[in-house]
Amino acid sequence: MSKYVPASQINDQVTWQDISPGGDIRESGNATLVNTGNWRTMIPTYVESKCKQCMLCVPVCPDVSIPVKDGKRLNFDYEHCKGCGICYKVCPFGAITFAKEEK
Ligand code: SF4
Ligand code: SF4
Repeated sequence: MSKYVPASQINDQVTWQDISPGGDIRESGNATLVNTGNWRTMIPTYVESKCKQCMLCVPVCPDVSIPVKDGKRLNFDYEHCKGCGICYKVCPFGAITFAKEEK
């Protein structure tokens, strides 16, 4: 058991002495706690009418932001999509557009 406060429990009451050296994260499964969608400057858009459900885009997403249910891909998880554009590059059917995100 680590003597440091887990990453998921760090808040403004936790001091530097309570966190691990360098702030490294030692527990698995906490990527969902970080809203990496905030980092995005470019945004992919799913064009469902063009999608052939080939699934080429799903495994290449580094943020696991293309959900699949019952063998079909769904719309993007914009809470975690960082806007890297890899999915846009691999889609052979033009079912993903990629543009500057207006905020
Ligand atoms: S833009 Fe990048 S992070 Fe977002 S869904 Fe596509 S591959 Fe994933
Ligand atoms: S790569 Fe394109 S066509 Fe294939 S599942 Fe993804 S969005 Fe649909």
